[in-house]
Amino acid sequence: MRKIALLGATGSIGASALDVIARHPDRFAATVLSADSRVDELIALCARFRPQHAVIAQAEHYLALRDGLLAAGLATQPHAGADALAELAGSDASDTVIAAIVGAAGMRSTLAAARAGKRLLLANKESVVLAGALLMRACAEHGAEVIPIDSEHNAIFQCLHGIGPANERVGKLILTASGGPFLNRSRAELAQVTAEQACAHPNWKMGRKISVDSATLMNKGLEVIEAHWLFGMPAERIEVLVHPQSIVHSMVEHVDGSVLAQFGQPDMRTTLACALAWPERVESGVAPLDLGRIGALTFQHPDRTTFACLDLAYAALAAGDSASATLNAANEVAVAAFLDGRIGFLDIPQVIEATLAGAERLPADGIDTLLAADASARRDANSHISRRERIAGASA
Ligand code: NDP
Ligand code: MG
Repeated sequence: MRKIALLGATGSIGASALDVIARHPDRFAATVLSADSRVDELIALCARFRPQHAVIAQAEHYLALRDGLLAAGLATQPHAGADALAELAGSDASDTVIAAIVGAAGMRSTLAAARAGKRLLLANKESVVLAGALLMRACAEHGAEVIPIDSEHNAIFQCLHGIGPANERVGKLILTASGGPFLNRSRAELAQVTAEQACAHPNWKMGRKISVDSATLMNKGLEVIEAHWLFGMPAERIEVLVHPQSIVHSMVEHVDGSVLAQFGQPDMRTTLACALAWPERVESGVAPLDLGRIGALTFQHPDRTTFACLDLAYAALAAGDSASATLNAANEVAVAAFLDGRIGFLDIPQVIEATLAGAERLPADGIDTLLAADASARRDANSHISRRERIAGASA
């Protein structure tokens, strides 16, 4: 029986994970569930899955969690705050941690799971972008087994047969990208798009932050950095290919020209079932793939001029040090401002580029310097956004 801590249980990945867990009560038990602020949703999940522990990250909701669990007659122990989250990620309440918190906020608990030598099912790509070297070192030192939950990286993991870093037999990794809701749009068309349009992904149902990242192609940029750290691949051997049907989840090209790909429905339950049961296979609830009905799979190169975020991510990876931490933090701030209607879609890459250009480069070897780079990028990105708002206000 796998004992699973699901961090970010109330999110989109959380829901897919719980769907698979519920199908296999003989194999999987959710022993820890966490949320940020949505305490009623968390209590409802506790009533259904009966974990030993529930954590609400925002501490002001502690009493609501405690009283709600009591009122429901549940024995689940309530906890609150980021310290409790990190502590439970590393505790022996679980042997497997699903890191499904969105953003750099997930880093501490992801790192705690790595340091405790867990099987780490990693969806929280921002923690890899922020602290990839540190995280991979912690996994190696403490024997943590990382299984990627990002569908592209899970595809590559499967093509490599789960044997760890890509080796000299691998020529390159090909990450597929759906292209998002704005595929083939021009810059002029993108100037006025709304948050709702950006979040309406054609193939995947996901949280709002990653949906916007998908629309800007920053999601693919973050995934290039993620692939670099997970598979030890240099950036020049990681290629991005747009594949609007989202059926081929990624590919591995070997030096002899042989390309292996993983196919599947665009449904994260396949990825989660694969990672939860690995190396075994279990039913996921996903309908079989009917390629005859889909008919055609198409591929095209990304439009790197219109979707400037992709190259910003390659540039940050090439720059090294804390540049990826800066990129990630500036992106989180810019996406939140776009979702709040404070800036336009095309402002997102501009805010990130300006933040990167002004950032001091710090060594990426310690958590403190990385968090300092993250904090400083958030301040800078916010001031770039405020300046844009003032200019927009003055010209209105
Ligand atoms: P959602 O926004 O749907 O869910 C985020 C989860 O994290 C919620 O449980 C939320 O709690 C919790 N959370 C948010 N902020 C904090 C915080 N500061 N501290 C603690 N918990 C927090 O996101 P997704 O499920 O879409 O994405 C999760 C991660 O997985 C992201 O890193 C994303 O890039 C990655 N991913 C997602 C995919 C998908 O299909 N959705 C595919 C591949 C990767 P609350 O509900 O209380 O706000
Ligand atoms: Mg992905």
